[in-house]
Amino acid sequence: MSESTRAVGTADPTTVDPTQADPTRGLTAWAEVDLDAIRDNVAALRGRSASGALMAVVKADAYGHGLVHSARAALAGGADYLGIAQLTEAIALREAGVDAPLLAWIFSPGAPLADAVSRGIDISIASRWALAETVAAARATGRTARIHVKVDTGLGRGGAFGSDYTDLLSDVGPAVAEGAVELVGIFSHFIFADAPEHPTVRAQQERFVEACAEAERAGLRPQLRHLANSAATLTNPSAHFDMVRPGLAVYGLSPVPDLAGPEDYGLTEAMRLVARLPLVKRLPAGQGISYGHTYTTAADTTVGLVPLGYADGIPRAASNVAPVQIGGARQQISGRVCMDQFVVDLGPSHPAQPGDEAVLFGRGVAGEPTAQDWAAATDTINYEIVTRVGARVPRIYRGADRVGKDT
Ligand SMILES: *Cc1c(COP(=O)(O)O)cnc(C)c1O
Repeated sequence: MSESTRAVGTADPTTVDPTQADPTRGLTAWAEVDLDAIRDNVAALRGRSASGALMAVVKADAYGHGLVHSARAALAGGADYLGIAQLTEAIALREAGVDAPLLAWIFSPGAPLADAVSRGIDISIASRWALAETVAAARATGRTARIHVKVDTGLGRGGAFGSDYTDLLSDVGPAVAEGAVELVGIFSHFIFADAPEHPTVRAQQERFVEACAEAERAGLRPQLRHLANSAATLTNPSAHFDMVRPGLAVYGLSPVPDLAGPEDYGLTEAMRLVARLPLVKRLPAGQGISYGHTYTTAADTTVGLVPLGYADGIPRAASNVAPVQIGGARQQISGRVCMDQFVVDLGPSHPAQPGDEAVLFGRGVAGEPTAQDWAAATDTINYEIVTRVGARVPRIYRGADRVGKDT
């Protein structure tokens, strides 16, 4: 992993801008994103793909890691495709110059589909209206739209279910014949991939095979059948089909934390969330801390203020329960998480100074908590912990030939 420091946009890797020697200088908090980890995680996941093909899911600002840098790192790791939920994020990637194959699966009537078609963005089709609008966009732009039909194999969320799927296929045939669309793929999504033995896993795979066969009987031959999210990529090769479609694991987090950690799969957590203490002070025994005084000091003590709050995506549910590392030692949040800050009771003889770093989560290799530790403490999933880190927190990118700040 490269820890070298370079200014953003510096093409020559030997050039160092001395004013950028520490890109965190002067910041109160930041999320360090290790692009080498993302690149290497993708390479590791692709190595597990039965077909050898991989779509890296970069939706939701790359699970909070930063859309464009993460997408480029994933491509450097060998991703064949990028997957994204919202069409607007797909367009943003094209505007940033990312020209890799790209699939977007969430948009509503009236969305800028002509923009998507003219930019060569693959479009997920789960309903007749979506196909009709896509065909109209293709006619308007004079380009063939690339589509992936999404079939609901039991999740009961996105995708065409039951006879709606059959009806949809009957519209796809004429659209293909007209040259308005090319059916590139058929895909679906798992209910319980994180419980690989769950009976729905096999049932959904069977339903998926049947849906692909139904398309074939209708004369439709997509090249890419894809079903496997991170959990299925890691635990269920029989679900890999023509391409795997992991998101979470790209960022080095385990989708099955009760079964195995990232290191068991050769993955490395890419995000480290850090803040610098703006205030360290003494408080007497019996002093309540933060709104509602839900925490009271047991003895004369030192407290540190951590300048991150729920406006930055720190769950309010982390109040009094989530771990933080300050000065090498693991501590716990004391009292309520506020909008911009929370407090940590460091104990009677802690040597903390203003400017010291508080590590909320990282890899856990130097004793710091992990995003999974935060998820366990706040009764949620690691996905939510990294994805909710707010836009106000600057991302500092390291490695993958690109280091710098990108808010
Ligand atoms: C989010 C998402 C994925 C990736 O899921 P992970 O569990 O993060 O690997 C794959 N496919 C679809 C349709 C998704 O919405």
